[in-house]
Amino acid sequence: MSPIIIDGKKISADVRAQVAAETAKLKEQGIVPGLAVIIVGDDPASRVYVNNKKKACADVGFYSEEHALPAETTQEELVALVQQLNQRKDINGILCQLPLPKGLDDKAVINAIAPEKDVDAFHPSNVGRIMLGEYSFLPCTPAGVMELLHAADVEISGKECVVIGRSNIVGKPMGMLLLHENGTVTICHSRTKNLAEVTRRADVLVAAVGKAKFVTADMVKPGAAVIDVGMNRDENGKLCGDVDYDAVAPICSAITPVPGGVGPMTIAMLMRNTLTAARMQNGLDN
Ligand code: NAP
Repeated sequence: MSPIIIDGKKISADVRAQVAAETAKLKEQGIVPGLAVIIVGDDPASRVYVNNKKKACADVGFYSEEHALPAETTQEELVALVQQLNQRKDINGILCQLPLPKGLDDKAVINAIAPEKDVDAFHPSNVGRIMLGEYSFLPCTPAGVMELLHAADVEISGKECVVIGRSNIVGKPMGMLLLHENGTVTICHSRTKNLAEVTRRADVLVAAVGKAKFVTADMVKPGAAVIDVGMNRDENGKLCGDVDYDAVAPICSAITPVPGGVGPMTIAMLMRNTLTAARMQNGLDN
């Protein structure tokens, strides 16, 4: 069987092109979506992510500004900055690059962001809305996965959907989005017994574990659609996912590669959330 290779590069480029086109129309009405990105300390991975986000903003025509703060910044200073940004009319989205340096509390900063500007969708109010199915924004990575499944015409309704991983930013919301689309959802984690038995039931399998090549061919039902969220390094330092791609690809119906699968979708969905925020804050329908 030769699987459909789900092309996250192309699908994310389509999302960004659509956001750029809608941004151009908003500009005709004098509205320029604005994103503020806060980075604290000098973590090299965070620096790369922030640079990529700023570039993506420029590419779709958004205004963006970076607030780079030293690692010694206090909790009070950080929250005060968020509160200032909450008040600004030209800033529609605020995100704070995580993880924060030791001594700073991620939760306190997320809670300080006005929910309507929380384009990462990490604020408890947005998390609650996802549970209720009444959301404006979705967390970017699970939203990107749904976009990939839709683009590849993978059927979800009535299907067995298994997610490996239960983090607040990927696994849990992923399960909820699949449930909203009528999948029969199982979320697995490190205490799951007989994991391979559970994953072999999956018509749609999403791996968000953070362990290189963790999902082996014997864990996958022939014909399943497999989405690999993982971003790991293999024994040679090469970027790889949570799925043993070479062994799994021949038996599934569709699969995402790493790189070039879920990764590029995350920033594209952040752009879409920022556009949504700008529209909502200017009283436009979505
Ligand atoms: P995380 O917070 O570390 O969560 C990992 C999850 O995997 C946990 O729920 C953990 O279970 C579970 N797990 C660990 N070992 C397991 C095992 N042996 N069997 C079953 N479950 C196991 O990670 P995350 O933030 O969700 O990220 C997951 C991966 O996705 C990472 O590689 C990360 O780099 C990647 N990622 C990619 C993007 C992207 O844009 N492509 C975005 C975010 C994350 P417990 O809860 O029981 O510990």
